[in-house]
Amino acid sequence: MTVFQTGLPASATLKLQQCGNCAQVNYPARELCGYCLADALQWQPVKDTGTVQSITELQYSLEPGYTAHLPWRVASIQLDCGPQALTHLVPGVVTGDAVRLKVIQDGQGNVMLLALGCDHAVQQAAIHWLEEVQFKEISA
Ligand SMILES: [Zn+2]
Repeated sequence: MTVFQTGLPASATLKLQQCGNCAQVNYPARELCGYCLADALQWQPVKDTGTVQSITELQYSLEPGYTAHLPWRVASIQLDCGPQALTHLVPGVVTGDAVRLKVIQDGQGNVMLLALGCDHAVQQAAIHWLEEVQFKEISA
């Protein structure tokens, strides 16, 4: 079992580090602002929408929780609040689609980002997929 250190707070709403000096949103987690180097980053709720820039399908995994669900899709998302993020990706979403990001925990308790499609049919398919892969949305 591998523990992934994303630094994300386990929160029902997407929270990323925002700079108290220049107001830019930073991701991934860091100690100093990537724009102005101020030591003033605080976890703040941010807009959870974005656009899929690219998708990669993993054909192999060393993690037992993922091997049964290959190929596994990950995506680069341009967030509307500023930064880009690498996320897990539900089936049915393609490059250029609008997505919403959720903070989820995998079956091993790792806190990470998941991109969900905005289309109703894609959302319905994602509900079954989330159960199948044992990803849990964080409710607190
Ligand atoms: Zn800054």
